[in-house]
Amino acid sequence: MKVVVVVGGVGGARFLLGVKAALGLPAVGERESPHEITALVNTADDVWMHGLRVCPDLDTCMYTLGGGIDPERGWGHAGETWTVQGELEAYGAEPTWFNLGDKDIATHLIRSRMIRAGYPLSAVTEALCDRWRPGVRLLPMTDDRVETHVVVDDPDDPQQRKALHFQEWWVRHHAKLPAHTIVPVGAEEAQPAPGVTDAIAGADAVLFAPSNPVVSIGSVLAVPGVREALRSTAADVVGLSPIIGGRPVRGMADACLSALGVEATAGAVGAHYGSRKTSEDGLLDGWLVHEGESVDVPGVAVRAVPLLMSDVDATAAMVRAALDLAGVDVD
Ligand code: GDP
Ligand code: CA
Repeated sequence: MKVVVVVGGVGGARFLLGVKAALGLPAVGERESPHEITALVNTADDVWMHGLRVCPDLDTCMYTLGGGIDPERGWGHAGETWTVQGELEAYGAEPTWFNLGDKDIATHLIRSRMIRAGYPLSAVTEALCDRWRPGVRLLPMTDDRVETHVVVDDPDDPQQRKALHFQEWWVRHHAKLPAHTIVPVGAEEAQPAPGVTDAIAGADAVLFAPSNPVVSIGSVLAVPGVREALRSTAADVVGLSPIIGGRPVRGMADACLSALGVEATAGAVGAHYGSRKTSEDGLLDGWLVHEGESVDVPGVAVRAVPLLMSDVDATAAMVRAALDLAGVDVD
């Protein structure tokens, strides 16, 4: 079976552990299998830091699936040290609000070197995965530079507005500055990375992980050609809600949704993705919401099941429910 999953970082990576388990693969690491899982990963969080190209969502997926993630933080390496960061701070090198661990820096050094030598991000990712063996094909949504910017009132001059890189808004300001708009800058001119639209066209099922609907899934959908591929694939497209009980399970996705005028409810997010059948640009055949929630999304088959990724087994059960709603048989 061929399963395509659209993902962001921490939520997406945890979901992919469950996708692997549901298909009988080890959650961590790789093994021969008749099944093929392709993750289309958000790259609009990517940023240059101290001359290094950092791809937070790709790395979170790669480390999580390859067994190198720090389980407490959910991002970065297990057993990380922070010597280089301390030295940068001693020099007063800005920015100081972005954490770069020593082991993580090795990944960024290799990536930056390859990108400067002219390799596309998809080839760089493949090379890095040679070490991590995630057991899932990790495809960046695009090889082109796309970066989410957030327009806020300028904290230094309230008469003015200012665009911040997503990381500055999210990590430095904890998404507390109200966002007027959130824009994936560069998306309009971007092309899907090699393999992205083919994977969607050849899929037996397409799943939207319960990732941030705006800055994770939304950025992937903003790459021209992705929406069209999703609307025309023969596979069913099923999404899982990251919103439970009117709030994100973790993080600040509600601050992103409000910039789009979308309520932070499972129903509103489902309607935001829209129905493939009854709306002109909708994407969903099915939508999973948390057990006990009564949600109606016109033109979309909605089912309520437990949606907390408390461990791999619980996540695999969510995936089985999603594949079942997509009309494919896992066993
Ligand atoms: P990021 O790139 O690291 O921010 O991660 P993602 O965009 O992939 O995922 C973040 C989203 O995952 C947040 O909006 C959370 O609400 C959602 N999330 C995290 N844990 C869970 C969970 O256990 N269940 C569900 N349904 N959503 C979750
Ligand atoms: Ca992210």
